[in-house]
Amino acid sequence: MIYTYDGPSISTMGVAAARRRRSVPVTPIRTGVVYGRQSKTRELSESLDTQTKACQATADQFGIEVRHVILEPPSTSAYTERGRLRPRFPEVLELLRSGEVDTVIAYKTDRLSRGGGPGWAPLFEAAEEAGLDLDRFVLIPGSGFMSEFELGIRATMDREESKKTEARLRDMKARHAAQGRPSGRNNHRPFGYEYDRVTVQEEEAALVRQATDRFLSGEGLLSIVRSWNRAGHRTPTGKLWSDATLRNILLAPRIAGLRQHRGEVVGEALWPALIDRAAWEQVRARFRASAGRPGPNAPRSILLRGLGTCGLCGCKLEPVPVGERLRLRCTKRPGRPQCGGITIAMQPVEDFVVAQVIYRLSSPALDERRRPGLPAPSRDLARELSAVDSKLKELAQDWAAERITRSEWLEAREALAARREAAEAELARDLQEKAVADLARDPAPVDVLWPDLPFTRQRAILQAVIAEVRIKPASRRGSKTVDLDRVEVLWRV
Ligand SMILES: [Zn+2]
Repeated sequence: MIYTYDGPSISTMGVAAARRRRSVPVTPIRTGVVYGRQSKTRELSESLDTQTKACQATADQFGIEVRHVILEPPSTSAYTERGRLRPRFPEVLELLRSGEVDTVIAYKTDRLSRGGGPGWAPLFEAAEEAGLDLDRFVLIPGSGFMSEFELGIRATMDREESKKTEARLRDMKARHAAQGRPSGRNNHRPFGYEYDRVTVQEEEAALVRQATDRFLSGEGLLSIVRSWNRAGHRTPTGKLWSDATLRNILLAPRIAGLRQHRGEVVGEALWPALIDRAAWEQVRARFRASAGRPGPNAPRSILLRGLGTCGLCGCKLEPVPVGERLRLRCTKRPGRPQCGGITIAMQPVEDFVVAQVIYRLSSPALDERRRPGLPAPSRDLARELSAVDSKLKELAQDWAAERITRSEWLEAREALAARREAAEAELARDLQEKAVADLARDPAPVDVLWPDLPFTRQRAILQAVIAEVRIKPASRRGSKTVDLDRVEVLWRV
């Protein structure tokens, strides 16, 4: 549909008035269409209204009746597409061809052409078809009628200019990214770096390393930020820390010395890394692994979750609330293998298991674990995970580009998912190992350290050393006290 300007035509009134004043003989009235498009570049950001008014004033001046005003809707497309899409331009061509108008009025020449000289072809073809004078059908405010030759030159210049502007911005960003140069606003700085985004702020860098270490040892983000807030540490903008802020920092490729562009890591950055690449991949892996787990709102943190097994059927025991207390129970349900033969109060079992773990970790066996430094970080696992990720991305691109079929895609994706799962499981074991190793490095006795360890670290340690906690059936029924002989802890070697 053509948007037609229905109001009193300024140009018609203008022409009529002029004719009355000069009492010129009636000549065929020229008719025109105003074509407008909002440009997004700053220097050309005159509003559509301003553009339209200027065009109408010029039309008046040249005695042209504006019959149609065609305005392109504001472009929502990306910068690179800016100005390329002219969904309503064919309407302009149709008005010319049909003889409805004989003049096109545009605020600037770049509104009408696209892609330099050749971009004018459709317009000139339409004018030629209508038998118009090719040097007198394009009217530009401030320039008057533009000849075909002038327009050609102007278009080439416009094109050059817009190409330069576009290329300047895009290339600058991409080049900066490729060079690993920092991006972003100057009044902000990333945690761990100075305002130049390259110089390391040592005090904060130490905190980033500390957080990484604590997180990989099984401590939760909330527990880390609470301790930071208590210690008076603040974000670069002077705010209190939240788990979300810390999460963003730990996940940022920046802290591993990697440059990101358009959401993807494009290479090494110019700034120094705060933590090594393998550690960063481990952090990412741990976030990924915990993505599907119950969040902080999950009912009470249960140290034994998933560790208890039924001594009769071997199924996992579920923690279930009975009155005020929790019990571990083999719950029988239709269609499930659970036998329903075991139930035991949870707290005494948990206390017993923890005591056993502390005893075991305090025994000389632990001294064997007292090696200098940490266990070697699983560099290969980290690499494996990033390899799987980039393969997955490639695969999706192949599918999108129709280089492979959907079933090929699904099949390959499944294989990769299995690889990732295996690597993540291994990584998780590594993290649990690390939790134990960290404990071993601490000179304080384990039973002293234990109560102050955050839940997630206690849990990581339990998972590292315990394979399962098997609960045998009660020998006497109705006993008030829990018979701890029923509890058998199976250790990982
Ligand atoms: Zn059972």
